Parts: sequence; C-alpha cells; structure tokens
Amino acid sequence: MAFPQVLSCPAVPLSNGLQIPILGLGTSYHGGYSHDGVVYALTECGIRHIDTAKRYGCEEMLGKAIKESGLPRSDLWITNKLWPGDYGYRAAKKACLDSCAEMGLEYFDLYLMHWPESLRPGRSNREMRAETWRALEELYNEGVCRAIGVSNFLVHHLDQLKEDCSVVPHVNQVEYHPFQQPYHLIEYCRQEGIVFEGYSPLAKGQVLSNPTVCRIAEKHKRTPAQICIRWSVQNGVVTIPKSTKKERVLENCRVFEFELDKEDIDSIKKLHDGRHVSWDPTNVE
Ligand code: NDP
Repeated sequence: MAFPQVLSCPAVPLSNGLQIPILGLGTSYHGGYSHDGVVYALTECGIRHIDTAKRYGCEEMLGKAIKESGLPRSDLWITNKLWPGDYGYRAAKKACLDSCAEMGLEYFDLYLMHWPESLRPGRSNREMRAETWRALEELYNEGVCRAIGVSNFLVHHLDQLKEDCSVVPHVNQVEYHPFQQPYHLIEYCRQEGIVFEGYSPLAKGQVLSNPTVCRIAEKHKRTPAQICIRWSVQNGVVTIPKSTKKERVLENCRVFEFELDKEDIDSIKKLHDGRHVSWDPTNVE
C-alpha cells in the first residue's frame, strides 16, 4: 500500500535563502544502507532530503537509488560530506568533484566538512580547516555546492573559522537526541545564522527504551522513535533518522500529524546526560 502523501515536510531557511527540508533520511556504513529503503523513502514516503558522506561508502549505490526514484533532481536535497583525509585545498576540491561523479550528480545541495580534525599531517587543525574551507567557498561560488557547512564543529572551531574565512557556514550538523542536547552550541549557531542540524536522533536506538520517552509515546499513541524525531523537528532542528527497514522509514516520517506539549518537552529536556553515541569532538583543538 502506498502512502504518497505521508510527508508534508516543512523546510528551514538557510542564510543564503535556500530551504532545507527539516526531515531527511540518514545513510551510513555498518548496515546503514538499504537500496530499497532509500527508493521507498523517496517514492512512497515523500522524503526529499538524503544525508550521506563519502566515508559511508554508499555514494554509487545511493546515486542509483536516486535515479531509480525517477524524481527530478531539483526536487531533491542531497547532502554529502568531505572526509578529513581529503582536507587541504586541492584534495578537497578533487574529493567533492569525485563524489559528484560517483553519485552521478552535477551538484550537492549541501556539502559539509565532516569533522574538525585534519587527518593530514604537518599543519595545525586550524590551518587545515581554513584552507579546506576556502576550497568549499570556491565550490560554493562555482555552483558545485548550493550550500556549504560543517559537522561536529564546536563553538571554538566556528569562532576560528569566522576569523579565518569569509563565508559563514550555512549549516552545522551535530549529534542531537534526548541524551545529547547541546544548548549553548545551538544558541551560538542561531545567533550566527548557522542552521543547526541534528544527527543520530534516536541515539542509534539507545533512547527508544527510555521510560520517559516510552511514557510520552503511550500518551500520544505513537512510537518512541516518532517521539524523538517529533521532539527534534519541533525544536526547529533539521533531523535525519536512519533506517534500513521500509516500515521504520515510514514510521519515522509520520511525525507531522501530532505535537508534543510543554510537559513532554520539559520531561525530555531532563534526559540530557551528555553522552555521545557517535563521536565527541570536545578535545579537537
Ligand atoms: P539514528 O539515531 O538515526 O539510529 C539509527 C538506528 O536506529 C539504526 O540501528 C536503526 O536500525 C534504528 N531505527 C531507526 N528507526 C527505528 C524505529 N522506528 N524503531 C526502532 N529502531 C529504529 O542513528 P545514526 O547514527 O544512524 O544517525 C542518523 C544519520 O545521521 C546517519 O545515517 C548519518 O546520515 C548521520 N550521521 C552523521 C554523523 C556525522 O558525523 N556527521 C555521525 C553519525 C550519523 P534499522 O536500520 O535496522 O532500522
């Protein structure tokens, strides 16, 4: 049974006027890619935003799924990420163009520096970030990337980039779920005009058995995953849950038909314990 109208997805404006759909589908390695799941999300659930990275090793397969969906390129929002092994001016430009070729795309809607630490020896992280960012600025000016941003950047990384470069990142993609609520960083991003995007919204599944989340799910007759995704989008955070299973992809899209109330939001706020389920960039200089 098809649900073509499942998703009527709001968008969040970037500082350059583009609109990023607030809900996207994550992809990743370690069992995180499913061709059928991606095609289903695009053709049956109304998903128009896909998040990927060169690091995930699924660019070519994802390119095929996008083509198979039959959707016009202009209807889609495709985010890709530059791996730190490709940092540096020339390497970054080459990696972006190679990723486009791998996916059969002429441009990315958003291209992110994946991580604040450089894996290339000899220069400081700050120097490498600035040099790499200049390559992204050029890719942006050339139209290869319609928006550029960073991922896992904390306030000190963003402050340095601001001093060193001219284009303010359009987006910062950071871990965000009920156990990880970086309010200071979110506030900083809002003040600087950087859209805050959250990854691992289900804490890789860890949050789904939390009693508070389960209680709120029962109250709204929704699933714990829907509560977490709803909480994230209701906070204005661009959200990219990942599932390889069609029924969960559909479940994760159905978060625009209900609202959490103040009591729910207050209860979830108390769940922050600072844990990271992906990476913790705190010690990256
Ligand atoms: P998520 O929080 O999205 O959790 C994914 C896990 O939850 C998978 O094991 C999935 O299993 C399971 N799951 C999904 N939906 C449901 C559901 N409705 N009910 C029960 N279980 C469910 O974690 P991710 O780390 O995958 O983050 C999402 C995306 O964020 C990634 O795919 C990637 O695009 C991005 N990301 C970015 C990072 C960065 O450094 N910039 C780092 C990490 C992630 P199954 O697939 O079997 O359904």
